[in-house]
Amino acid sequence: MVNLLKFKMAKVSGKVVAFLAKKGSGSGGTYAGHIFTKIGGYESITELASQLKIGSILITGTNGKTTTTTLLIKLMSNDIQIRQTYENNILNSMTTSLLTQEGDLGIFEYGIRNMTYGIPDTVERLIKPIGVVYTTISQEHTQVAGIKNPFEDYYKAKKLLSQGMERGTIVTNCDDPRTALIGLEKEKDVNVNYYGIATEGIEDIGGESVDCPKCGEKLTYSKHYLNHRGVYSCSCGFKRPEPNVKLTNAEFSTDKWILNIEGDLFNYTTSKNIKLDLELKVPPFGFHNIYNTLASITAYATFTPKVENIESTIYEVFNNLDMSFIPPGRFEVVDIGGKFVGLGQGDNGDALKINAMFMNQFVDAPLEFIYTTPEENEEEIFDDHFKVIKSMNPEHVIVVPGRKSIDKAKEYYEIIKEEYDDAEFYPLSYEEMDERINKLIELARNSEYKYVIMSGCGEEQAMWEQIKRGLINR
Ligand SMILES: [Zn+2]
Repeated sequence: MVNLLKFKMAKVSGKVVAFLAKKGSGSGGTYAGHIFTKIGGYESITELASQLKIGSILITGTNGKTTTTTLLIKLMSNDIQIRQTYENNILNSMTTSLLTQEGDLGIFEYGIRNMTYGIPDTVERLIKPIGVVYTTISQEHTQVAGIKNPFEDYYKAKKLLSQGMERGTIVTNCDDPRTALIGLEKEKDVNVNYYGIATEGIEDIGGESVDCPKCGEKLTYSKHYLNHRGVYSCSCGFKRPEPNVKLTNAEFSTDKWILNIEGDLFNYTTSKNIKLDLELKVPPFGFHNIYNTLASITAYATFTPKVENIESTIYEVFNNLDMSFIPPGRFEVVDIGGKFVGLGQGDNGDALKINAMFMNQFVDAPLEFIYTTPEENEEEIFDDHFKVIKSMNPEHVIVVPGRKSIDKAKEYYEIIKEEYDDAEFYPLSYEEMDERINKLIELARNSEYKYVIMSGCGEEQAMWEQIKRGLINR
């Protein structure tokens, strides 16, 4: 039991700090949460979180969580006032949001890299979420803050975020065997709403079979959708669950995409079953954003208290969507005077592959690949990246360090050079980030190719967003 006086003191102190620091709403600020926790102790967070009338939703996954959170916030804030954080992965920022914002529902992005530097089970225990939303789980950095982070530990950490849930609903991608298994294993405790693709029109877009997350055998796929996502089964009995919300048809053209989505799912807030039948017109936003659309629509329909508004709110948000919903630094293709440059973050194999697929929609002439490398001890990411580079069949490759180590970048370059003998290397240092950014802008601008892709590792805001601004604004 939390001491009430201690809780009140913590709350007042946290609010004072927030006021003094003049942190606005949205994503900013962790200090108020830090002070609150320091005075009130961890357990006070539970008291704070329990003041939300509906509860909290946590969004996690390897890729797509910021976009999914952004879309979910757009949808939900049509209906009710919410407390929110995105692009911030620590408990203190959630606590700050709970403390300084108003609303009956909390929507919090929560990205965890491993169990040493994230505390997923503690977060679950303290926040007691009514919902955990999973996007997709794939291999990310194999090393975090100098500690080796095997995929099994990374997967386990993602699992732990919902493992203790005794009420609420899990929203998860059934086309991804890893996120599907998390749902299947929790069906005995909570409701699970799955989303996925169910149309004959989409198949074999960059597919790749992975091992069964349950028994370790290789999964058999009857369909591949995107990387390791698809329709799969295993000899152990594990197979893809049926989606509650599914893409049933898609028509792609260069200026708009038409997506048909059907749903039959459980709404947690009203304990009602609801049906959806939608035809959305969206910008040609890349295949991966179909999953972010499905994730956000499923989460919204699962948790909104205004069930009668669901379809009209979805139309309002998606039929008016422009590309600005893409988070800063993330991959997009820009036209700089007749030259098409696809640029942005791609710091794991899955992400770079998605970028490559997005870029390939445009390319009809030789391509130059400007690649920013991973760090030391990230050879596995490099291997995944190099496969993607080769799959795009670039005519010319330029290599620039994406992280700190120039020596390691040079090693990666040497491997690339074995296949692309006129590949160039620019040993630009991390410390002189402005110089690195300016050079990357110059390389894209002065490229002799009509199509340039510039992607790989690098900080989203501090590097990619700056390069985008430099390239688009001049
Ligand atoms: Zn199996």
